Amino acid sequence: MSLGEQGRSIDDVMAELVAKRTDDMKWADGRTFGMVYDGGPGVREVAEQAASLYLHENALNTKAFPSLGAIQSEVVGWTASLLNGPDTASGFLTSGGTESILCAVKAARERGRIERGVTEPEMVIATSGHAAFHKAGHLFGIKVNSVPVLEDWTADVDAMAALVNENTVLVVGSAPQYPQGVIDDIPGLAAAAATVDANCHVDACMGGFMLPFAERLGREVTPWDFRVEGVTTISADIHKLGYAPKGVSVILHRTKELRRYQTFLFDDWLGGFYASPNLQGTRSGVPMAAAWAVMSHLGIEGYVDLAKFTLENADEMRAGIAQIDGLNVLGDGQFHLVAFASDDPALDIFAIDDALQRRGWYHDRQTPPDNLHATVSNSNTGVIGDYLTALNESVAEVRGTTANDRSTNYATLE
Ligand SMILES: *Cc1c(COP(=O)(O)O)cnc(C)c1O
Repeated sequence: MSLGEQGRSIDDVMAELVAKRTDDMKWADGRTFGMVYDGGPGVREVAEQAASLYLHENALNTKAFPSLGAIQSEVVGWTASLLNGPDTASGFLTSGGTESILCAVKAARERGRIERGVTEPEMVIATSGHAAFHKAGHLFGIKVNSVPVLEDWTADVDAMAALVNENTVLVVGSAPQYPQGVIDDIPGLAAAAATVDANCHVDACMGGFMLPFAERLGREVTPWDFRVEGVTTISADIHKLGYAPKGVSVILHRTKELRRYQTFLFDDWLGGFYASPNLQGTRSGVPMAAAWAVMSHLGIEGYVDLAKFTLENADEMRAGIAQIDGLNVLGDGQFHLVAFASDDPALDIFAIDDALQRRGWYHDRQTPPDNLHATVSNSNTGVIGDYLTALNESVAEVRGTTANDRSTNYATLE
């Protein structure tokens, strides 16, 4: 394959791009649970306008583009205030949840090395903690102690605390964890981290832009944010329930001093002094500007409305699933993540998924145990009734059959 010698007309190029998308997931009709989060026509419009305004800007050096510096500091400040950060809270924008997590883990390692002389760093995490923490351990040379969850799918604080030792630089909790959508005992985990002056990171990639609004809607939310003493860092993805287009997340530190451990400074390069807040070098202004625009457009009231629809969608889904013989919802998730499995040997949950896919509905598959996962959002407003009809039909259709393909890919290589 080689690039054509002669360029093609814009119309020709665009026609081919449009054609290429034929088999892509059709998220706009609301039948996908995850991957794309649709805040509605106004949100799409403001994101598209901001994105096209910033298409060519580079956030590598905010001295050249001070507007991007201001955008970053405003979005970080808004997020810190949503998450009840103290006045000292500070952070950066990153390209997504994984990068926010990598930055948090790197900061924890540096803090342990500099303040406590830790040379063989370790972290403690529940088996429900996101795979990105294992990626961080792999990249940054940190031993990952992974601890099975309790029966209710939350982190086993006692078992995790027992693994905290003088090499521990980080204890991880999730609010909520991705697989079953339950919130860990964050005060317990933060207390365990504090016994050795380690960082405690709360992974709120999913919850950061849902739990503050659920709380405003009067839902009970167990303590998880900066109001919990000992929480040092929090990650929150604007490109999930913050309804911004892909490529933007926030990493927050309780203080500027803690944030220092995240940044990379280098002054022995022929290119000059190099200061880098996160893992990227050249950095698109598009996701930052689009996030700023979406958050400004929605305001807290807009987010509360979207959260209300989302939570109602998820509640309706959980109730409908619970009524189907042979299916059970995993855990007591109260928010926008729904996972369900089969407890009937004649019902293969992945065969049900195949039948749902034939009807145009898309879930993520998880294991163990084999189950289907939904990240419910405003995208699914108005279609849950149709979904439950499709689910009931699918269950009836596949009873006694098994799926051929049992892969559970959350992400792929090529
Ligand atoms: C999505 C998610 C991540 C990873 O974020 P990416 O944006 O996919 O890199 C981490 N933790 C949780 C709980 C998540 O839901």
